[in-house]
Amino acid sequence: MTDWILPFLAAYIGQSLGFLAVVSVVFFVVWRLGAGRLAGRRIRARGRTFDGAQLRHELKHTAVVLAIGTAQLLLINALNDRGWTQLSQDWGPWGAMGAALTVVGLVLFNDLWFYSVHRVLHTPWLFRRVHAVHHRSADVNPFSSYSFHAVEGALLTAWLIPAALLVPLSMPALMVTQLIGTANNLMAHLGYELLPVWWIRAPGLRWTNTATFHSLHHTQLKGNYGLFTRLWDRLLGTELSGYEAAFVEAHPPEGAAP
Ligand SMILES: [Zn+2]
Ligand SMILES: [Zn+2]
Repeated sequence: MTDWILPFLAAYIGQSLGFLAVVSVVFFVVWRLGAGRLAGRRIRARGRTFDGAQLRHELKHTAVVLAIGTAQLLLINALNDRGWTQLSQDWGPWGAMGAALTVVGLVLFNDLWFYSVHRVLHTPWLFRRVHAVHHRSADVNPFSSYSFHAVEGALLTAWLIPAALLVPLSMPALMVTQLIGTANNLMAHLGYELLPVWWIRAPGLRWTNTATFHSLHHTQLKGNYGLFTRLWDRLLGTELSGYEAAFVEAHPPEGAAP
């Protein structure tokens, strides 16, 4: 009955150290080494600015969310060992191209899932009890990325287990999707806009999420609910009106040093 404790602890410690190492490097490079050089790209925070109390809050909640993620991964592995999932260990029957299309499909599905769950989390009852944990971070930074209430951490990834059981998915495609999700989440909470200013006018690219887009969500507490794209916010009328101007504002003036 206790066979799972040691594998869980080993996986949890491994995942947590890996994640903390990546987030610490990103934080150190952007917020410390880059602070002077990137000053013109700092997304202006409104309200409480980042401090030690916020960092402690973020680390505590990230530790819980990582434990939920580890438990979920071990559960998927256990289901897979029993032959109950539809997961394949290779690229799947349609080869690398099929797996690439699977990644695109999973990202788009994840985008809609996140948008839907996020809007529900902004209803007053759930906001006060659950989502307020994430919004304790007004001045977002890489450590805010996975600072969620445990219930939110579980809800955001709740689609993974039914998907593994019911849909023929390639395991490498699922892993790549997870990596893209983590990178996107870190970018969204960077607190600095590192994308070039022309991004907001480029066909296709302008519809993706940016650090400015999600920072506005944290400072205004409504609107800009999407995490991978702006599509659902545009379609459903929840995009904050000042977004494109704020994106441009988070860049040094034309002709100035970067
Ligand atoms: Zn929110
Ligand atoms: Zn956020």
